[in-house]
Amino acid sequence: MSAVTKTLKLRLAKPNSHKERKLCETRKAYQQALQAAFDAECTTQSATNDVVVEYDLSGYAKNALKQYVPQLCGDSYDANELHDDHPVKFTNDGVQLDHKPENGIEWYVKIPHHEDYHLWIPAHANPDQREWLEAVYADDAEMGESRLFERDGTWYLHVTATRDVEVQSETSADERTPIGVDIGEASLVTVCHRDESKSPVRPNLWADDGKTVRRLRKTYFTATRRLQRRSSERIAESYGDALWGQIDDVFHCVTREVVEYAESVENPLLVLEDLTYIRENMDYGEYMNRRLHGWGFAKLHAQIRYKAAEKGIPVETVNPRNTSKACHACGEHGYRPRQATFRCSNDDCWVSEYQADVNGAINIADRYRSGESHCRSVRTSRQKASDNDSTTDGASLTGPQDSHADAETQQETRGTYAS
Ligand SMILES: [Zn+2]
Repeated sequence: MSAVTKTLKLRLAKPNSHKERKLCETRKAYQQALQAAFDAECTTQSATNDVVVEYDLSGYAKNALKQYVPQLCGDSYDANELHDDHPVKFTNDGVQLDHKPENGIEWYVKIPHHEDYHLWIPAHANPDQREWLEAVYADDAEMGESRLFERDGTWYLHVTATRDVEVQSETSADERTPIGVDIGEASLVTVCHRDESKSPVRPNLWADDGKTVRRLRKTYFTATRRLQRRSSERIAESYGDALWGQIDDVFHCVTREVVEYAESVENPLLVLEDLTYIRENMDYGEYMNRRLHGWGFAKLHAQIRYKAAEKGIPVETVNPRNTSKACHACGEHGYRPRQATFRCSNDDCWVSEYQADVNGAINIADRYRSGESHCRSVRTSRQKASDNDSTTDGASLTGPQDSHADAETQQETRGTYAS
């Protein structure tokens, strides 16, 4: 195990004028306290405390000053550097994180204002740091100091976080066993891999969990709508939070089991579908947007990633195109007579019917094996440019082309969202 620390960068949504004023007050009080303690040449925590105690600041900001000022005064620090936009620091636990994946802006941060008073503000996260935020939110990473600052009218919060990760072993990518991870509607997650003789083995479906999540989501959408109609916004919100908390529990349980599955395979490597293809290159409209945000596709990915990292299991992504349409045995495109069934259209193929999610998971694993994902060099992408399934094709996709948007899937699940 080794501890890794990262700075998580959050951009706060434009606060309303009340909250903006509070943020400015905090910044002003912090800077005044910092300047005063610096001018008083406080070289100890207690000396700093005597100065900053007077200011209308949270304990977290005061404690940060107590740690910070003695360092400044101990070194030959240039007072000019105490310029106006010095970030406001908070000690760990001052800032809190909340996650509401059902909302347009998913993350919320609690920023201490002064004693017993704080502000909750929605915040935009860097998509690449999602797994870290998930880890912090799940208490699997430890939050350190945070810094609040404003640049050109926009407020930012930078949070340091630390977590233990297993150092990945030296096993080369070629020696690893790719495990395909398919996230779907019917089965929440499906995993499968091929054994040494290349036969698909040990398919595992989390179908009951898919059912549980569907039920919770349905309850969420119908109940919150009903409560909102009765203008019980606050009840709707707390009820919604409770339901999302339950969905999150299911997600944590399933993603832990996915990583346990991987641990039981020799030299495992988890292969996920690349979300960027879906996010950036396609406009799926309301149905898919809801699915991507609300359903928790990204949330599941992030949890798998950080839990795998804790165990030293590498995670790679592949282009999701057609992973559920192609037959894992012959590569021909098939169809789904029923949601859970894949039927190969190739008469010569031994596969007539196959569990659809397992077929998808094997395709995802195979796509990694075919070398698409782990060689992103220019040379490789040129080589691949002539292949049908090359990574470069992703950009040209214009509509729902994989299982997650199959017509029958939409049909079956639309009832959950509509009405
Ligand atoms: Zn086939």
